[in-house]
Amino acid sequence: MLDNKTRMKLFKRITKILSNEHVTMHETDQILNAHDAWPLSEAKIRSGEVLPLADLIVFPESVDEVSKILVIANELKLPIVPVGGGAGTCGGTLPIYGGIQLDLKRMNKIIEIDHKSMLVRVQAGVIGIDLEEEVNRLGYTTGHTPTSLRASNIGGFIATRSGGSMSSLYGKIEDLTLGLQVVLPNGSIIETKAIPRHSVGPDLRQLFIGSEGTLGIITEATMKLFPLPEDRRFRSVSFPDVHSGLEAIRKIFRVGILPSVVRLYDPEDAAFSFSMHFEFEEGHCMLLLAFDGASKKIDIDEKQAVRICLEEGGTDHGEGPSKRWWEHRYDMYYPTRLTTAGFAIGDTIDIVATYDKLESVYYAMKDAMEAEDAVVMSHFSHMYQNGGSIYMIFFTSQPDAETAWATYKKIWDAGVYACHREGGTMSHQHGVGLSRSTYTEDELGSSFGVLKKIKEVLDPNCIMNPGKLGLGVRK
Ligand SMILES: Cc1cc2nc3c(=O)[nH]c(=O)nc-3n(C[C@H](O)[C@H](O)[C@H](O)COP(=O)(O)OP(=O)(O)OC[C@H]3O[C@@H](n4cnc5c(N)ncnc54)[C@H](O)[C@@H]3O)c2cc1C
Repeated sequence: MLDNKTRMKLFKRITKILSNEHVTMHETDQILNAHDAWPLSEAKIRSGEVLPLADLIVFPESVDEVSKILVIANELKLPIVPVGGGAGTCGGTLPIYGGIQLDLKRMNKIIEIDHKSMLVRVQAGVIGIDLEEEVNRLGYTTGHTPTSLRASNIGGFIATRSGGSMSSLYGKIEDLTLGLQVVLPNGSIIETKAIPRHSVGPDLRQLFIGSEGTLGIITEATMKLFPLPEDRRFRSVSFPDVHSGLEAIRKIFRVGILPSVVRLYDPEDAAFSFSMHFEFEEGHCMLLLAFDGASKKIDIDEKQAVRICLEEGGTDHGEGPSKRWWEHRYDMYYPTRLTTAGFAIGDTIDIVATYDKLESVYYAMKDAMEAEDAVVMSHFSHMYQNGGSIYMIFFTSQPDAETAWATYKKIWDAGVYACHREGGTMSHQHGVGLSRSTYTEDELGSSFGVLKKIKEVLDPNCIMNPGKLGLGVRK
C-alpha cells in the first residue's frame, strides 16, 4: 500500500477528474472491496484474516474519466483493478498489490437499441437483470441469464467469459457480444465495430473478452438481442447412470435439436436437489431440459428429444423437476452458502471437455477430489454439439482454519490436475482470477508465452490487474 502522503497526493489528483463523493479511501469501503464471491476470500474474512486493501476506490461515470485515471496510474505504475458487480468467484477483483480499484457501477446507461439489427449498446456497468428486464419490456431477451444476473454487470460478464443457464441455445457471452469499447492501460480508447462477422484479420474483440481486466477496461459493449420466445417448455428424465444421460444429450444435439436448458445431475446432486420434492429411483441421475421458441417447433423437438432419452434407458418425469429448478434457480445462491461458520468450506470447479473425454474427466476429478477429503456433487450443464461443462461442487469440513485452507488447496490441485490429465479445460464460465492463476501455464501450455507477450506489449508497466489470469505476478 502507498504511504499516507503519497495516497493523499493521489487523492488530490484523482479528485481533479472525479468529484470527492466518487473517490473513497474509507476503511469500510476498502474492506468490503477486499473480497469477492471467491469462497476462500469470504471464509478468510469471516475467520478474521485481514486481506490486502486498495489504496483508493474510484467510481467514474464516463469513458473519458476512465481514460484520465489510467493515464495517472500508468505514469505512477500503480495497479488498477477493475470492479464490475464484484460477484466473481475467483478473486478477480482482489487488490492483492494495493493500488486503485476502478468500480464501473456508475457507468450503467443503456445507450441505444437498434430494433432493425436487434442490438443493444450499453455501458459496461449495467447490472445484468436491469438490462434483461428493460429489453423484456420491449419484447426481447439478451439470452444471457446466469445465476449471478442480479449481482454482476455486463463488463464483468464479458471480462470473465460468463455463461448463462440457456447457453445451449443462445450461446455464451463471447457469442453474444458483437462490439466493444476498451480503454487501454496508457489511457487510449479503442473500439471494435459491432458487426455480425468479418474477414479483416484476427478478431480483436475476442482478445479482450475473458481478459479479466489484465489488458484494459471494457467501458461499452454492443450485445445481441433475441425476440422473447413464443413458448418455453420444460421436461425431465431420470437415467440409471451418468453414461446413459450423456449419451442421450449427445444424440439430442446430433439430430440438430437445440434445447435452451440441458442439465444432467449426477446421483449425488440429483438426490440433493430433487429427492425431497420428486420420486425417482435412488442412485439415478436427473436430466432437465427446456425448449424455447415457436410452439409448433417445440412440439417436434420435445417429442424427438424425449424419444431419444427413452431409447437410452431414461424414465420420463414430465415437467416437474425441470420447472421447479427454473422457478427456484436463484434461491440457493442468495445469500451465498458455499462458506459457513466454522471451518467448512466449499467451492465450484466448472470444467469443460468434448464428449469423448467428458466421462473420464468427471470420474478422474471426482476420485481425485474425494481422495483429498471432499464431498463432491456435480451436474453437467451448458451442453453443446461437441461437448459441455461439468459444474463440480465440493465441500470439506476441517477442525481449524489452517487445515481447512490447506485441504481446500489440495482439493483444487487434485481436481484441476486430474482435469488437465484427462484432456479437459479448467474453466467454462467462471474465469481464472486468482484462484486458478497458478494453473494457467499448465492449462495453456506453449500458448501461455503468446498471452504473456501480448500483456507485455499492451501493458508494459503491468498496471492492469496484476497477478490475475497468471499474468503480471509480482514478487
Ligand atoms: C451467486 C452466484 C452465481 C453465479 N452464477 C454464474 C453463472 O450462472 N454463470 C457464470 O458465468 N458465472 C456465474 N457466477 C460468477 C460471476 O458472477 C461471473 O463470473 C460474472 O461474470 C462476474 O461478473 P461481475 O460483474 O460480478 O465481475 P467482477 O467480480 O466485478 O469482476 C470479475 C473480473 O472481471 C474484471 N472486470 C470486471 N469488470 C470489468 C471491466 N469493465 N473491464 C475489464 N475487466 C473487468 C475484474 O477485474 C475481475 O477480474 C456466479 C457468481 C455468484 C456469486
